[in-house]
Amino acid sequence: MRCAEMTGRHHEPVRPTWACGACGEQWPCSTALPAILALDEPAQALLLWDWFEEAATDLVDLTGADLHQRFIRDVREAEQR
Ligand SMILES: [Zn+2]
Repeated sequence: MRCAEMTGRHHEPVRPTWACGACGEQWPCSTALPAILALDEPAQALLLWDWFEEAATDLVDLTGADLHQRFIRDVREAEQR
């Protein structure tokens, strides 16, 4: 989905800020997280990696370690809770 199509009602990431378009939380937001965790592992891995790569081009002030923590490690840790 392109940013121009965002209505603000769907819990989707908005580039280039990577905040949620609906609730404004840092993406992935707490509302979207259960749906992400419900995906099977290959689908989840592809999605997280896509976000990681796209966010790396937008969030240039964050290090690779910061991005890895936010888009991969935090989600994996949430899955283990
Ligand atoms: Zn949200």
